[in-house]
Amino acid sequence: MVQFQDVSKIYKTRRGLVKALDNVNMQINKGEFVIIRGASGSGKTTLLMALGGMLHPTNGLINVEGKDIYRMNERERANFRAEKIGFVFQMFHLVPYLNVLENLLLYPGVVKNKTGVSEAEALLERLNLSNRKYHRPSELSAGEKQRAAIARALLNNPKILLADEPTGNLDPENATEVIEYLAEFHKKGGTVIVVTHGNVANNYADRIIQLREGRIV
Ligand code: ADP
Ligand code: MG
Repeated sequence: MVQFQDVSKIYKTRRGLVKALDNVNMQINKGEFVIIRGASGSGKTTLLMALGGMLHPTNGLINVEGKDIYRMNERERANFRAEKIGFVFQMFHLVPYLNVLENLLLYPGVVKNKTGVSEAEALLERLNLSNRKYHRPSELSAGEKQRAAIARALLNNPKILLADEPTGNLDPENATEVIEYLAEFHKKGGTVIVVTHGNVANNYADRIIQLREGRIV
């Protein structure tokens, strides 16, 4: 379970303070599929990063599975991320110098949980990428890149999958496929929290959370 209690995030910039999250209170249950929507600049990425243990909020508490993740020390929080969280980004964020398989095996959680090459290969098979595992990202289509990124996110068997506009650079066909992989993870009991503008995910979502200027509306 995920719980936000009076969470605010204020960025300090040279031009003053920007309130990206403004007293957010919410709860997301284990196994929920939640869509986060909102205009550009409404705080969606900030919310996901805070939830994933990557961005310390200015105020408030973020509880994930009973633990206040920002009262952990850095090492505990790194372990929390590696064990519980999978991330998928709009821009894929694959390492350009490594092939697909190597990109998966780079993930720190792989070493930690002793999952290995065979698990990575099985995932690539499931994501229909077996024939691309020795290819570098530059040799892949956008859809293939995102499937590789999803495989990387799933490799450590996370509890929560966070996806920040994962279909933003994909055509409708590939976008649908990506959402269906998220839905498959959800069907197996995973919690999915996805920022997405299209309607593809609506059929799968339990709930839509709408953000406006850092507040839930
Ligand atoms: P969204 O993902 O909904 O587009 P963001 O969470 O990225 O929104 O940003 C919310 C607000 O915070 C925006 O006004 C943005 O300009 C500001 N912001 C985001 N990241 C930073 C940062 N690192 N430093 C300063 N301001 C930021
Ligand atoms: Mg964003």
